[in-house]
Amino acid sequence: MAPTPDLPILPPDESLLSQKFGRETANYFSGSPLNRLSFLRTDLSFLRSAFSHPSAAFVLLNNLAPLVQASDSANLAFATGEDVKPLTGADPFGKTEEEQIREYNSEEPHSIIVFLGIDEKGALSPHSGLKDTEPFSFKDFKGTPYFAIDATPREKNTDAANKLAERMKEKGFEFYGGGPRHMALHSGQAAMYGYARAIIDWNARTPFCAQCGQPTLSVNAGTKRVCPPTDKASGEVKERKPCATRGTVSNHSFPRTDPTVIMAIINADGTKVLLGRQRRWPKYWYSTLAGFQEPGESIEEAVRREVWEESGVQVGRVVLHSSQPWPFPASLMIGAVGQALPGDGEKIYLGHDAELEDAKWFSLEEVKEALVKGTSNLGESAPEGYVEGGLRLPPQTAIANRLITSVVEGWWVLSKM
Ligand SMILES: [Zn+2]
Repeated sequence: MAPTPDLPILPPDESLLSQKFGRETANYFSGSPLNRLSFLRTDLSFLRSAFSHPSAAFVLLNNLAPLVQASDSANLAFATGEDVKPLTGADPFGKTEEEQIREYNSEEPHSIIVFLGIDEKGALSPHSGLKDTEPFSFKDFKGTPYFAIDATPREKNTDAANKLAERMKEKGFEFYGGGPRHMALHSGQAAMYGYARAIIDWNARTPFCAQCGQPTLSVNAGTKRVCPPTDKASGEVKERKPCATRGTVSNHSFPRTDPTVIMAIINADGTKVLLGRQRRWPKYWYSTLAGFQEPGESIEEAVRREVWEESGVQVGRVVLHSSQPWPFPASLMIGAVGQALPGDGEKIYLGHDAELEDAKWFSLEEVKEALVKGTSNLGESAPEGYVEGGLRLPPQTAIANRLITSVVEGWWVLSKM
């Protein structure tokens, strides 16, 4: 079983807000050390010099599995510019968006290359295994540039991707083989991987325009896909069908983030917490209730709706707790704590929605014990010391665990510094 990684550490904070609301909670997959410099994604001189700088580091994903050190899968491994050139070409940021669109040829291979940001504080370099070089600098910004590359062998890129994988193996690196959810990376690297994973997945799964169905082209350093008006396939420039995304700002052109509400519900007198379980989960495993935020409702309303639909419990006050990027594939988990209405409000009824096999009120003592003895990743066996029949819960890398922990620690009673 992989050890549970640490969570991001926030700097000390004595702000008035923390005095009133308690310290901020930083969840796993947040806390990236990278400055994304999103305003420079269209600046070719910046992208070209960052890409070609000797310190540039490349996160590789193969079917979304990250490249890691073969001897230590809690650490990402990074390719160099020399390594990735056969896949990306020597100068992938040599053309403006307008030029790329004008010269678009649907028959040419188009690699997915994402600028992730620069590591200004050198937080990742102890893990990178890259040689020390003069740091990259551009205007006021200085640090190691990080890019993500889709190294999945596909169609026209198959040869180059396979050769790159061979080269990485010779360096002692391999693509993580432990399933699609790599949850053991050190926290800063997990945040970087989560971002790379979400955005490469979006690019790979959006080869066609959602508005008109024609193939699209990745621009803005991997953060936008456009629907070109012409195609140079077979050597002649052909007009393509008209498309509404070309004239206006279109949400079909940008990466998705799907908001999801996830909530720890306490009973009216604050002595119990509501947890539920799905049929496919291991025996005795429970978690907080969760569901997709729908259009046309506030987060608080989504929490009340989901809890009532799944468990019959009626929730009154809802307070936002913290949030977690969850790149499987593109969720933002919005964590909340809610309180059930007294009396009939606490009654559990599973007949509305078949999603949960069971929902139950658990005493805070039972949950406290399970947080010590019964947490693990889904799919992993219970930890040592767990006694069969005891409550099992998600690990601290999941926001569900942080919400449950906050509730048993009396988050709503005290503001803790
Ligand atoms: Zn289109």
